[in-house]
Parts: sequence; C-alpha cells; structure tokens
Amino acid sequence: MAIQIKTLDELKIMRRAGLVVAQIHQAIRDVIKPGMTTDALDVIAAAVIKRAGATSNFLNYHGFPATICVSINDEIVHGIPGAKIINVGDVISVDCGAIVDGWHGDAAFSIGIGTVDSADQRLMDVCEESMWRGIAAGKNGAKLTDIGYAIEQYTNSQGKYGILREYGGHGIGTEMHQAPHVLNFGKAGQGPEIVPGLVLAIEPMITRGSERTKVLSDDWTVVSVDKSRGAHFEHSYAICPDGKPFVLTAIDGGRSQLNRLGVEISDLL
Ligand code: MG
Ligand code: MG
Repeated sequence: MAIQIKTLDELKIMRRAGLVVAQIHQAIRDVIKPGMTTDALDVIAAAVIKRAGATSNFLNYHGFPATICVSINDEIVHGIPGAKIINVGDVISVDCGAIVDGWHGDAAFSIGIGTVDSADQRLMDVCEESMWRGIAAGKNGAKLTDIGYAIEQYTNSQGKYGILREYGGHGIGTEMHQAPHVLNFGKAGQGPEIVPGLVLAIEPMITRGSERTKVLSDDWTVVSVDKSRGAHFEHSYAICPDGKPFVLTAIDGGRSQLNRLGVEISDLL
C-alpha cells in the first residue's frame, strides 16, 4: 500500500481530529480514580466524541466493542472496557481515536493510579520519553527506521525493558492504520524517507520483563507472557509543508517536549 501524503488543508482537518483525541485523554485523566470501572472511562470517551461532532474509529474496528482500549497492569494494549475495577497502584493504559470529516487521530497514554511502585512509574516515564525521542528522530529527511532505532536505543539505555515486537506504529490519515508500519526497534537509516505531508502514529509498548506477549481468549487483550507490567504511549504527528513536525494529538502540538529535545515545531497548524 502506498504512503498517503497529506496537503496542508488535510493536515488542518487531522489537527481537529487530534484535538478531539487530546480532549478525551484530558477528560479521562481528570476523572480516573480507584473504584471506577473501565466501562465508566469508555462512557466518558464516547461523550467527548459525541459532543465534538466526531466519530470513534475504535468502535466496531474489526469488531472491537468499545470507544477506547483500557489495559491494566500486565495487559499492555487492546484491553476491552468492562466491569473491571481500577485499583490503587494499577498501571492503566488508555488508547483511543476519533474521526473528523473522514480524517483520523490516534493516541494513547499510561497512568499510575494513586501511589504506584517507583519501578512502574519509571516504566511509564521511559516509555513516554522513548516516544518523544522517536518523534524527534523522525524528522524531515530522516529514514523511517531512525524512529525505531531512537526508541530502542533510549529504552535500552534506561534499564532492562521488553520492547514489544509484534506491535508498532503506523501511518494514519483517511484510515486509522496506513502504511508504513513503524517498528519500535531496529537499525537506523532504512526504509522510506520522511517527507512533508507524512503523518505517523508513534507508539512504543514496553514491559518491565519480557517482550513476549499473547492474546487473551477475548481475542483482543494483549498481555505479557511473564505477567510483567506494561506501558504504552502514542501520539500522531505530521511533517508540515515547512519541513517541521507538529504533534496533532498533543494540545500544544508537541512544542514543550520537542523543544526540550532541540526540535522546533511548525506553526502552520
Ligand atoms: Mg495506533
Ligand atoms: Mg492507538
């Protein structure tokens, strides 16, 4: 499948979709607490999408039954919301998206509930930072695998973590999942060149143990085989026509995090 290159006008619509995703994240961060069910988070996400006049790209995706994925502790991605109760000390990963005028946004975050184990907090911090390092590496003129290389190098520099092999980032546009697939590991300097108009969802998934996973009998939930806890962060970012990046699913376009890493963001969006 060919890589879809977006015009500035199309990126402007994708920014609107990205902001809906950012609003869902904020709404969930604002209310998540011990004693809630994961279903309650799904209801909130659906309400934000409805209020924005957007639609969900997760609901009914290959039969997925909810608006968000909620994955707890050794569940790493693709958990289905339900009656499960959120507890103090849990690591909760939330992944969701939205469609505005046919264009998709997709982003995820992990959060600790109340006081969490410092090693769990570190797991989340390393995962999030690896995502920002990946986005920073995926600049105009770089090669696609420079992203996964940056993610893996940073993650390995921080300790012993398992980087999931079977799941990765992706192009995004008029479909949630487009070419190219973006590995979270591997050699630098390979694959297609990163050019203006390319939009990628960068999403490292790591565990405190092994990178080996299995899918539960619900056919969705991905858990670590060794029961180690996992984290997942994701943002969708574009290379704008001026050659600078812009993080479509971050409220500030990724300015604070990317500036810290020496990358200037576009002001076209
Ligand atoms: Mg994604
Ligand atoms: Mg996602």
